Amino acid sequence: MAEVYCPRCKGRVDFIVESERSGDSIKRIKYYYKCKVCGFRQNVSDIEIMRDNGSIKITIKNLKTEEGSKGSSVS
Ligand SMILES: [Zn+2]
Repeated sequence: MAEVYCPRCKGRVDFIVESERSGDSIKRIKYYYKCKVCGFRQNVSDIEIMRDNGSIKITIKNLKTEEGSKGSSVS
C-alpha cells in the first residue's frame, strides 16, 4: 500500500476506517485519509449497508474521484 502525503503540509496522513449505525437498518462505513498535523481530510469512499426485510443492499460511493469539493456548494 502506497503512503499518502498531505497536499497542504506534506506530512504523512493516516488511513481511517469509521463505521457508524444510523437507525436500525442502516450502517455506514467511511474510509478517509486524515492528516494529524493540519487536519486535512481526504474522503476515499463511503459504504452504506442497508437491510430491508431480510435483503441487504450495499451502496458504495467512491469519493476520491469527486475532486473539487471546496466548501459546500448547493445547486
Ligand atoms: Zn497536513
